[in-house]
Amino acid sequence: MLIIEKSKSGRKGYTLPQIDVPTADMSELLPNNMIRKDAAKLPEVSENEISRHYIKLSQLNYNIESGLYPLGSCTMKYNPKVNEKLAALPGFTELHPCSQDEYSQGALQMMYELGEALKEITGLQGVSLQPSAGSQGELAGILMFRAYHKDRNDDKRTVILIPDSAHGTNPASAAIGGFSIVSVKSREDGRIDIDDLRSKADDTVAGMMITNPSTIGIFEKEIEEIERIIHGCGGLLYMDGANLNALLGIVRPGDMGFDCVHMNLHKTFSTPHGGGGPGAGPVCVSDKLVPFLPTPQVIKEGDKYSLLRDTEKSIGSMHSFYGNFGVLIRAYTYIRMLGSLGIRQVSENAIINANYIMKLMENEYEYPYKEFCMHEFVCSADRQKQHGVSAKDIAKRLLDYGLHAPTIYFPLIVREAMLIEPTETETKESLENFANVMNKIAEEARTNKDVVLNAPTTAAVKRLDDALASRKLNIRW
Ligand SMILES: *Cc1c(COP(=O)(O)O)cnc(C)c1O
Repeated sequence: MLIIEKSKSGRKGYTLPQIDVPTADMSELLPNNMIRKDAAKLPEVSENEISRHYIKLSQLNYNIESGLYPLGSCTMKYNPKVNEKLAALPGFTELHPCSQDEYSQGALQMMYELGEALKEITGLQGVSLQPSAGSQGELAGILMFRAYHKDRNDDKRTVILIPDSAHGTNPASAAIGGFSIVSVKSREDGRIDIDDLRSKADDTVAGMMITNPSTIGIFEKEIEEIERIIHGCGGLLYMDGANLNALLGIVRPGDMGFDCVHMNLHKTFSTPHGGGGPGAGPVCVSDKLVPFLPTPQVIKEGDKYSLLRDTEKSIGSMHSFYGNFGVLIRAYTYIRMLGSLGIRQVSENAIINANYIMKLMENEYEYPYKEFCMHEFVCSADRQKQHGVSAKDIAKRLLDYGLHAPTIYFPLIVREAMLIEPTETETKESLENFANVMNKIAEEARTNKDVVLNAPTTAAVKRLDDALASRKLNIRW
C-alpha cells in the first residue's frame, strides 16, 4: 500500500521547533509563476505509520542485517553500529566545510590520523582521502601515472596493461584517463601469464593495474617478478585494493612494489554500501607519486593541522571539499576500535571463512582453481548446467532459503561463475547453513530442477527482466 493511501487529514508524525526568525515574503524571493497556489499533497500519517511503512519497505529487500550476503568482490560485511554513533557526533555533523582550519582541528586530526593509518596498512608514503569510490580512486591513480610520465617528458607511454580477470572498472578508469588498454592473459592456474606480460612490457607502457588477490580469490605469488618487469620497462604499478580485507596486517602493497593502491573504505573498513554509495576510495602512493597527489591535503605542523589547498604538480581535486567525510569517520572508528591486532584478525577470519565454505561445497560444485583461496573463491555451476540449471537459477533459488546470492557471471574468464565471499563477520553456523543450502540446491538441480528454475517463490516479486530494468530504470511508483 502506498503511504499516500494511508493519509488522513490532520494526522502528523513530526513536531517542529518554534520558528525564531522572521518569515520571508515569498513574492519577494520567487517570481509569481513559481509560487505554489495550493498546498502540496503530502501524506499525513502518524509517526507509528510512517515507521511501519519504511520498515516494511526495507523488508522487501534482502540486507546484511537479515543474513549472510556472500557477494564476491563486494565485501558485504556487518557494519558495526558504533561507526554510526561517532559519525553522528554534532562536532562532525554541524561543522561547515568552509570553516577555517583553526575551528576544525578535530575533523582535520581525524582525517590526518586516518591517512596515517592507511599509509601504515599499505606500506606507502603518501595518501589522499579525496576519491569518493574505488573507481574514482583508480582514476586518481591513473591521472597521477599520466602526470608522472608527463613531468619526465616521457610522452610515448600510452598503454596500461590489465589482466583479463580484472574488475571492469580497471579498463574503464584507464580509458577515461586517456590510455589504451592491452589485456594480459591468465594461466591455467588463474594467475597472470608472466611470458605474455613480458612480451607486452615495452617503453609504451605507462603502467599496469593488478588486483591482488585477484578477482578469483588467489594471491599473485609472482608479484615480485611482475614488479621487476613493469618497473624494468619504466612503467608504474597500480594495485586495485578494493578487497584489502585479504591482506590487512599480513602483507603490504608498498612492500610488493606497488606505486599506487586504492582502498574501498565502504568494503574493507565497514560502511553500509550498495545502490550507488556513498563510499570512499582513498589512494596511497609511493614517493614517486607524492608530488601529484590530489588537493586539498591535511598536513600537521607541530600540533596544528591545516589544509594544503594547492601544490605545484597536483592533479587537482577529485571531489568538492575533502571527500565523503562521513565515510572517513566510519573507517577511522573501525580501525581505532580494532587496533593493529584486530585489523590482522579481520583478514585471517575472512580467509578462514572462505576456505571453510569452499571445503564444505567441494563435492557438489566444480572449482576451476582448486588451491586454497584468500577472502573469496570462485566456483562454477558447470555441473548443474548439464541438468539445465544455471548460476542465475541457483542465485534465485537461494532467495527462497532466505539467503542472498553470490556474485554471478564474474570473473568473466570462468563459465557459469559464482564468486563467493562470506566475509569475516559470519559465525561457523551461518557459514555451514550457506554451504548446506548450496549443496541442497545442487541436489535439487539433479532431482527436482523445476523448483530451481521457477525460483524465487517467496520473494516480493518473481524474476525481473534485469536487462530491461537496467536500460529503462524506473525507481518511482
Ligand atoms: C568494488 C570494486 C571496485 C569498484 O569500487 P566502487 O567503489 O564500486 O567504485 C573496483 N575493483 C574491485 C576489485 C572491486 O571489488
